[in-house]
Amino acid sequence: ARKLLQVNGLKRYFSLGKNQLLKAIDDVSFEIYEGETFGLVGESGCGKSTTGRTVIGLYPPTQGEVLYEGKNVHKLKGKELQRFNMKMQMIFQDPYASLNPRMIVADIITESMEINGSYSRKERHERAHELLEMVGLNKEHANRFPHEFSGGQRQRIGIARALASDPQMVIADEPISALDVSVQAQVVNLMKKLQRERNLSYLFIAHDLAMVKHISDRIGVMYLGNLVELTTSDQLYKNPKHPYTQALLSAIPVPDPDVEMSRERIQIEGDVPSPINPPGGCVFRTRCPMAKPVCAEQKPIWQEVAVQHYAACHLYN
Ligand code: SF4
Ligand code: MG
Repeated sequence: ARKLLQVNGLKRYFSLGKNQLLKAIDDVSFEIYEGETFGLVGESGCGKSTTGRTVIGLYPPTQGEVLYEGKNVHKLKGKELQRFNMKMQMIFQDPYASLNPRMIVADIITESMEINGSYSRKERHERAHELLEMVGLNKEHANRFPHEFSGGQRQRIGIARALASDPQMVIADEPISALDVSVQAQVVNLMKKLQRERNLSYLFIAHDLAMVKHISDRIGVMYLGNLVELTTSDQLYKNPKHPYTQALLSAIPVPDPDVEMSRERIQIEGDVPSPINPPGGCVFRTRCPMAKPVCAEQKPIWQEVAVQHYAACHLYN
């Protein structure tokens, strides 16, 4: 498949004054192919959302680059920038806060058409009807306001809005975390169906590995601004290499029949340290059950530890 997105050595720091730096993203590299779902997983505050926002161009990187179809997205101008803004869209976690409560659904969904083109209101509303049907709603919903819908329906509206500009890639930032469990599968199934029909690529951000397992082709695991492991969904579940991933997986209660060895529960102590003053060496060392002296001295390098399987951990140096 064709490579759409390439993220190289991305860092994003926020200055908090007084020489304090919040290292939201400290070392992240990955790529996303056409039609692929790439899951990005980690505890809240580990830099997943900042990564999504930097990839879509909202934040400039402190270091590193984001290439879309080979072009640096933070240097796009004019027509190329306009095209990129159409081709990459975002779905947000909170289907309540992300829809303007004073606009009717048809106008919410087609807002990007109003900004980018010269469409009549009638044309936009016809397009809104198509988009609503695409996401399992119908044209009767077009003239209603967001508060008249359930959480799951609102997320469908958010998806319809993302599809209005006919994107190639959608960044979904915890798109089902705020929904009832009973509705989560419906939204995931809708996303998969749309992916098949439109050859979409997803960057699917989640805090829960169990949530991304079935939807992702490949998964990247983040901890404190760093990508610590990346491989196919299958490999990650069958043969996790990084102690953090192993701990996350051991916390998933239902054992996977594909996994031959039963997993021992690995308890990780304490909380994620602050990104304002992250530990030197390996960022996970303050909580890692396998930490050794070198882990405090040197940052482990990102390397291929098995075929198409990457990790940053001194156990594999
Ligand atoms: Fe644990 Fe050391 Fe590996 Fe970090 S580098 S995950 S501290 S063993
Ligand atoms: Mg977030």
